[in-house]
This record gives sequence, C-alpha cells and structure tokens, in this order.
Amino acid sequence: MNAAIAQVQPLHRTRALRGPFDYRLGRDLQETVGVGSLLLVPFGRQELMGVVVGIADHSEVPASKLLAPRRAMALDVPAELVELAGWLAREYCSTPARALSLMLPPGTASQAARPRVRLMAELTQQGQQLVSTGGAEERLTERQRELLEQLAHGPVFAGAVPGGTAAVRRLATRGLVTLEGREVGRRPLHTPIGSRSRQPLPLTPDQQVALGSLTAGLDRPDGAQVLLHGVTGSGKTELYLRAAADALARGRGVIILVPEIALTPQMVGRFVERLGDTVAVLHSRLSLGERYDEWRRLRAGTARVCVGPRSAVFAPVADLGLVVVDEEHESSYKHEGDPRYDARAVAAERARAANALLVLGSATPRAETYHAAARVRLPRRVDGGPLPEVRILDMRGVPSGLHPQTVHALAQVRQRAGKAIVLLNRRGWSAFLTCRDCGALWGCPNCDVALVLHRGAASMSCHHCGHSETVPERCRCGSGSLARHGMGTERLERDLAAVLGGDGFSVFRLDGDVALGGTRSGPGRDPGAAVLQRFERAPSGVLLGTQMVAKGHDFPGVALGVVVDADATLGFPDFRAEERTFALIAQLAGRVGRGGDGHVLVQTVAPEARAIRYAAKHDSDGFLAAELQRRRALSYPPFSHLIRVTCSSATSQAAAAAAGQIAANVRQQCEAPATTVLGPAPLFRLRGSQRRALLIKTQDRGGTVAVLREAVGDAASAREHTGVSFSVDVDPH
Ligand code: ADP
Ligand code: ZN
Ligand code: ZN
Repeated sequence: MNAAIAQVQPLHRTRALRGPFDYRLGRDLQETVGVGSLLLVPFGRQELMGVVVGIADHSEVPASKLLAPRRAMALDVPAELVELAGWLAREYCSTPARALSLMLPPGTASQAARPRVRLMAELTQQGQQLVSTGGAEERLTERQRELLEQLAHGPVFAGAVPGGTAAVRRLATRGLVTLEGREVGRRPLHTPIGSRSRQPLPLTPDQQVALGSLTAGLDRPDGAQVLLHGVTGSGKTELYLRAAADALARGRGVIILVPEIALTPQMVGRFVERLGDTVAVLHSRLSLGERYDEWRRLRAGTARVCVGPRSAVFAPVADLGLVVVDEEHESSYKHEGDPRYDARAVAAERARAANALLVLGSATPRAETYHAAARVRLPRRVDGGPLPEVRILDMRGVPSGLHPQTVHALAQVRQRAGKAIVLLNRRGWSAFLTCRDCGALWGCPNCDVALVLHRGAASMSCHHCGHSETVPERCRCGSGSLARHGMGTERLERDLAAVLGGDGFSVFRLDGDVALGGTRSGPGRDPGAAVLQRFERAPSGVLLGTQMVAKGHDFPGVALGVVVDADATLGFPDFRAEERTFALIAQLAGRVGRGGDGHVLVQTVAPEARAIRYAAKHDSDGFLAAELQRRRALSYPPFSHLIRVTCSSATSQAAAAAAGQIAANVRQQCEAPATTVLGPAPLFRLRGSQRRALLIKTQDRGGTVAVLREAVGDAASAREHTGVSFSVDVDPH
C-alpha cells in the first residue's frame, strides 16, 4: 500500500510551535514526495513552507481533518540533512524548524531564486536551406541576414547579440529559427593562480607519511578523525588537495571548510585549478543566483566538492568521504544565531554519519581537538626554513607604546625597504568620549556600552546595534571640554608614524573598520582582502592591524613581526584566553621569515605568562599538554561542557524571573557536582533589552540539554514570561 501521509515540519521560528504535522498526500504527490521534500502547506490561516521529515501510511488525525499540501517545490533537501537537522536541534537545544532552515536550498524562504533561463535560437531546416542558397529572393533586413549567417555556425543565445531578441523573434515567426529556453548556470569567478598548481606537487617525506595516514583513514569502513597538526607553511593545503582527489577517485564527495577570512579567491582558486569543475563554492558574498546554482550543482552531483565557510558544512554533498576543517582553531566556525552550532562539531557528526574521514588542520589546534583526535604531524616548513626567533619584550615601566627594540627593528626594516607586520591585540582600537566637567560618558541609547569614536570620521557608533551619531561639540551640562579616551592607540599610531612615516614607505592598515566595511558585492571587492593584496604586491611596507593580519594569508618576504600588546586577550574572562594568545603569536610567527630569516617581537606586561613563553619556543605540544592539565583541574572543556542561557526582556524583573525559573529547574533535575549552575547574572543591556544569563557546566551534555529544552520550552510558553526571549548557547565562545 502506498504511504499517503507526509509528516511536515513547518519552517516557523517560534520556539513554542512543535511539529511535525500530518498532511494528506494526493495521488500525484505520493509518487514524488519523500523525506526532504519541500511543501507549501496550509497552516492555520497562513501558508507555510515545510520540510517532510517522515512518510507514514496512517495518521492519528482523523482523515476528515487532514489537509493537503498546496504544492511541492522543485528542489528538496537530502534525507541525510533532514536527519542532521534533528541531531542539530537536539544538540544545540534549538528547534527542528530552525535547524532545518540551515539546510535549505538558497532562496527557499523568499522563493526568489530561480534558474536563469535564456532564449536559445537555432536554425530550422527551412532556415538552413535559406542560408545555403543565399536566400536572395527572401525579404530580409540586413540585420536578419547577419543573424542567419551567425546561426549557420551553431545555436546562439538571443540575448547575447545586440538587439538580437527582436530580430530573432521575427525570424521565428517566419519559421526560419526555433526558440527554446535553456538554463544558463551562474558560476562564481575564481582567480586563476597560474598553471603550475594544476599538477600535484611532489610531496616532501613528511607530507608523504601524513598523506598515508589520511588515505588510511579514508579507507576505514567506519571513518576516522585526524588532527593535521602542522606548522604554518608545512603544506597542509597540499594535503587537503591530495586527500580530496583520493576521495573523488573513490567516488566520494568532499567538503572543505575554511574560516571566513581565508576565503579569498586565491584559496578557492587553488581548489578549482587542481580539481576542476567538480568544485562548487558556497558563501554569503556570492549573489543569490550563484549560490542557488552552485547548490543545485552539488545536489545533482555535477559538483562533488564544496569549499566554503562554516555554513558549507550543510552542503548537499552525497556519499560524503572527506570533510576538512582548515584552521580548525578559528572562532568563526561558531555560529552566533540560533541554532548556535559549531561547524566543527557538525562536521564531525556529518562525517560520523557518512563513515567519512574528518581532517582538522591547524598549526595551533584547540585543546579539545588535540585531546580527541588522532594526531598527524607536519613539524617542518616545506621550504625547510627554520621558524623565526621570537623575542619577548617586557613592557613594564616602558613609557611609550613601542619598546626601544621594536623601534629599532622597525627602523631597520624601513631602512632596508623590507616588510613587517604589526599586530595590535586590542579589539577595534576603540576610543570613547567623556565630559571632563560632569563625567558623562557617551553611551549607546539601546545598549549599555560606550559609543566608539571612529578614526578620521566625525561620528561615533555602537558596535552592537549599529546606532550612530555625530561627535558632539559640547556636553549636555554645557561644558565644551570633552575627553577622548583610548588614546593609547592614537599615541601608538603617532609613535609608529614617527618611526615609519614619510617618504615612500607605506603603511597598510587593516582593522575592524576596514574589514567590516566589506559589502557583499563579490570577493574581489572585499576591502580587507584588497588591503592584504596591496601589501602582498608592494615591494616594502608595514601591515598594521588587529588579529586579522595574522590569519590565513601568506606573504613572502616578511622580515619582522611585532605583537604590540600580547597579553591584552589574557585579561578576558574566557577559558580560551590562553589558547587564543598562544595561537595569535604562533600564527604571526608562521607568517614571518618565509624563505629567509626573520624574527618576531612580542611586547607584553606579562612576560612570564605560559601562553607567551611556549609560543616563543614554538612549543605547541608543550603548551597543549599544560593547557589540558589546567582544563582538567578546572573542569573546563574537553573535561566538561559549557552551556549558556540568556533571557532578554524589556524589563529586568521579567528577565530575572525567567532566568531564575530555568536555573531552579536545572538545579532540581540535574545532579551536582556533575552539573553546576552559575547565575543568573545580569549582562549589559543590548539593543534595548535587559538580559540575565546562566552558565551551566556539565559532564552530562545530552541529559542537561534535554532538561534545558524542557525548562526553556516551559518558560517560553508560560504566560508569566511573555515578552521574554531565550537563547541557549551550547559550547559558547
Ligand atoms: P599550510 O597550509 O600548512 O600553511 P601550504 O599548503 O599553504 O601550507 O604550503 C605552503 C607553501 O608550500 C605553498 O606555497 C605551497 O604551494 C608550497 N608547497 C606545499 N607542498 C609542497 C611540496 N610538496 N613541494 C613544494 N612546494 C610545496
Ligand atoms: Zn558634562
Ligand atoms: Zn547599541
């Protein structure tokens, strides 16, 4: 008997809405609808898009009450992604609808994306005859004759000929040509990087050993997890390419995840040049049409490799054999909207479900990965060059922003017309405004944070909600004496200008303002990438900026790296602070002295800090061993799981009441000491919302998430908490 009931999960954001709901399939739809089909269904008074999560032959709902879907969409979601959405919703305490919405073909919600169809003109037999006989007796315009000549060489897209569409239509009415709509795929442009890369490079002995481990993993029937732990420049990307080719040769698909910042056209170009048309790219800077077409190429199996940032972990790649996470330590793998998924964990789950090989690559892996995965080492740079010497400069008691040794080293680089990278650890180089007379601070009207002054601009803005206003000339108290704080960075800029400024020596600045100013108008027009490219091409100069300057980019000939305030991140109340500081220094060191000698200067007021000492010795094994010991002692991940719950509301009472109830539920149902709850604690106001947060530390992730889901669900649907919104962040950053 045919299954006639579709269990449909409507794509609705409300947490309180539970699904799936049953719909009756008519005979026409029974043939084509299966798990993953997208249906437009009547739901209450509206019509909603929904995903079929199951097919059944009967329903608990009486037949007379069952509704039929309005229609089915042309595209569907692979069944294994529907399965993955279920896992994601459970794992991250989200809802099936929200999880499913990550897996949809691009443009599904708006129904805005369509195949691009162009009119293709082709000569009919009559037309061919006419051309071969010269057609002198026919009444044709000059334009029409030209077109016929052109068509004699083969079909032509009508729109590709200036003024062609109208002329072609006239020829069609006379039976000389046929017109037919053909789909024309939209392909993102890739920067070619030279033919050299088309051939695989002969591997170094280290790479050969490493590749052996990867292929062995690929051939394990139940998959494997490998940490590819290799210093910067050790040839990890070459191994991803080899492993991808091996997977393809075995008839299996590949997903390559790269951090957003590294998603340069060059990086993608490397894959396209080596592996060809089978590579598809999915990321937000592509146009919707491009994304739609690339997605469909993957879904249809014409493309078998997907390269992209974290969201590409949901690419519709069938028979997955390999998932690579490049620079696995990067924080951009964590998604900050609900579901707050971690692409690394999703990659691991996808690989597990497909018995695929998961490769996590990094020079500075996270302690969790180091702890959990099999390790494959690439201890040397491909070029055989040594890692640069790292010198720690004690900044205690130094009155200037730059240490005398830094000044000296920069002056030398300038004198020799060399290149240097200077990294400021401060977030945003921020500066803010206060009144010297009454002490007023210019804060955001919606968030409890100071407005940030922008260099060069006459405005200040909120980094959370985007509120912006012009810099005032006087305070509300009448005083005209306003103080700009965060002058440290301006002083630093002056100090740098004194060393570097003037004739012909360029300073390339890359900071939050530049990088975030990027529009989504194509990878080539990303201003951050443009700055990096100019620095790369310049014969000399200094690249100056925040964290971004140390990531994902290779510049030949950088002789000096400087970390201006290495310890700034150590002060953050974040258990990853040590790991981040270590990674920052090590990553910068990885960019310095390629193909020659170079050195790194680390300015710090905490020269004894563990992360800094190990980084100076390039000892990542030593650092990770010590870091794991510390994590174990404090029961931090990977020895526990952290979950953060945030309740937001217009009033602090409502937020506190909701958070209090959830905390009480969790305390009651989860046993201490395996699960402990900290808070509720107030957070700063954000976008006009008062917020309260709980931090839960647990050994029993599944159990606690299940309890939390109920607790949050209850609170969300409880009348006394109306107007409160909830966010649950499992493995918060
Ligand atoms: P990583 O990803 O570990 O930083 P890459 O894969 O980018 O390292 O390699 C660093 C440089 O070495 C690149 O320019 C790459 O083309 C080159 N390279 C990698 N493997 C080889 C090899 N086997 N022989 C020669 N050059 C190589
Ligand atoms: Zn004042
Ligand atoms: Zn704000």
